[in-house]
Amino acid sequence: MRIVLLGSPGSGKGTQASRIIGKYNIPHISTGDIFRDNIKRQTSIGLEAKKFIDKGHLVPDDLTLKIIEDRFIQPDCAEGFLLDGFPRTIVQAEALELELQKNVKKLDAVVNLDVHDEAIISRMTGRRVCSKCGATYNLTFNKPTVDNICDKCGGALLIREDDKLETVTNRLKVYKTETQPLIDFYKQKGILITVNGELDAEVVFQNICNALEQF
Ligand code: ADP
Ligand code: AMP
Repeated sequence: MRIVLLGSPGSGKGTQASRIIGKYNIPHISTGDIFRDNIKRQTSIGLEAKKFIDKGHLVPDDLTLKIIEDRFIQPDCAEGFLLDGFPRTIVQAEALELELQKNVKKLDAVVNLDVHDEAIISRMTGRRVCSKCGATYNLTFNKPTVDNICDKCGGALLIREDDKLETVTNRLKVYKTETQPLIDFYKQKGILITVNGELDAEVVFQNICNALEQF
């Protein structure tokens, strides 16, 4: 399976990704996670990407395409993958097509998580992420058992730098101009599945699975 998860920031891509990869046994490729890992390790890619991420801008296409190319050559991508947060621009989507065509491969489906802006703002300002294992929580919808501690590994839960209200507003604007056009791009290719992302996360997951199976 080669799947892309599309949706505004905070629409639940990471939350659904962890469920989907378990079911289909494919690697989870999140460009946001790759950038955050590079920032943590203070690599040159991380230092460059941070300048854009902290302002709520997209990282330029050339740098993003470099990290994705490096990831695609890993052997675990041979049989499929779940892309989360990539592509985010038409340039990236076209580059992805070329890369797949080179290996006579294509995407099976693009799952678009549909969530209104008001829900996005409350989700992102309440998002907490484990500093150790990356698990995602929400102060309203998915609280950890003990405040600020990860249920899975005991790590400390942190607020993402780019989840401040001002940055979130900017990220939503950028989503609308740069990423939303991908909905039509993939609709025209006949591989778009749109799912209501405002339902309970488990229901959203079931709806994604049903749609993928009927595809
Ligand atoms: P993305 O990867 O698209 O940025 P996340 O998966 O990190 O989004 O989800 C953003 C926030 O919304 C997190 O705090 C997460 O716990 C919460 N969330 C995810 N899915 C749902 C849902 N279906 N209902 C309510 N809250 C959700
Ligand atoms: P995410 O974790 O997917 O919300 O990504 C966090 C941030 O990383 C985004 O707001 C962007 O600044 C950057 N980023 C992640 N993926 C991409 C991408 N495909 N293209 C450009 N920037 C990206």
